[in-house]
Formats: sequence, structure tokens, C-alpha cells
Amino acid sequence: MKVLNEFKISFPSRSVNEGLSRIAVSAFAAQLDPPVDELSDVKTAVSEAVTNCIVHAYKNTVGTIEISMRILDQNRLYIKIKDKGCGIEDIEKAMEPLFTTAPEEERAGLGFAVMESFMDKLSVRSKVSKGTTIIMYKKFSSR
Ligand code: ATP
Ligand code: MG
Repeated sequence: MKVLNEFKISFPSRSVNEGLSRIAVSAFAAQLDPPVDELSDVKTAVSEAVTNCIVHAYKNTVGTIEISMRILDQNRLYIKIKDKGCGIEDIEKAMEPLFTTAPEEERAGLGFAVMESFMDKLSVRSKVSKGTTIIMYKKFSSR
């Protein structure tokens, strides 16, 4: 796996920063000249992951969210989204479509399902009280 370029940002888990993070990833990924619909998929996945950090990881508090992005060979994009929030007790269960720990906030439990379907690969690491790291890959079609 060859890393051709990389970029890291970190920001507090305030909801105004969700849109900014999506634009940052999209601007970085633009150097691969991706098809618009595929770039849009990446933005949606990033948005879901960052929203999870804001509303779940740092529920009732504000903490740091870190996004590391890499351009890999073969038109591939790597994105890591990391928080040091509450962590996930049961990752397998959390990733089931429609599972949510926040039904009272009208959460649908579809964030992970969206990330999984819009990206080529998704992996989740988490430790209770330590935080969560999401790694996603997307290979763009060349045009
Ligand atoms: P939706 O994304 O549809 O608004 P949701 O956020 O509950 O609803 P998912 O994004 O699929 O659904 O996440 C499922 C569950 O996993 C969440 O309800 C939450 O309990 C847990 N979770 C997800 N991301 C994190 C995180 N970064 N830190 C702690 N818990 C998380
Ligand atoms: Mg979610």
C-alpha cells in the first residue's frame, strides 16, 4: 500500500464542524478527480461517522475528533476518524442496521449501514471509556 499524499485535521466535536469536516475530506479527495456520485458517497459516510462522534462519543460534552486521510495508489482513498469518547460496548450489535442507543433523539440506527454501503471497506475499533476509531476505504472509478 503506497501512500501518495496525506492530510490530518482535528477539531472540537461541535455540530458546526460536521459540515466543515465533510468539505475538508471532499476537497482532499478531489485530487483523485473522482466521479461526483462517488465523492458524494464519501461525504455522506464521513458525515455519519463525525455525527456519531458528536452525538454519541461526546454526548453532553465536547472532545476532539481527528480525521486522517490518505491518497493511496490505484485511486484509493483512506479515511480514519478517531474520537476519545465513551466507546462502544458491543461493536457487532452497534453495527446492526436499525440498532441505536438514542431512539429518544429520533436516531434511526442507520449510520453504520450507510458507511458500509457507501464505502468499500469499513472497520471499527473501540474501547469503552477510551474511544472509537473508524477506518474506511474507497476506490474511485477512473474516468
Ligand atoms: P443514525 O446514525 O441513523 O442517526 P445512530 O447514530 O444511533 O442513528 P449508527 O450511526 O448506526 O446509528 O450507530 C449505532 C450505535 O453505535 C449508536 O446508537 C451508538 O450507540 C453507537 N456509536 C456509533 N458511533 C459511536 C461513537 N463514535 N462513539 C460511541 N458510540 C457510538
Ligand atoms: Mg449515527
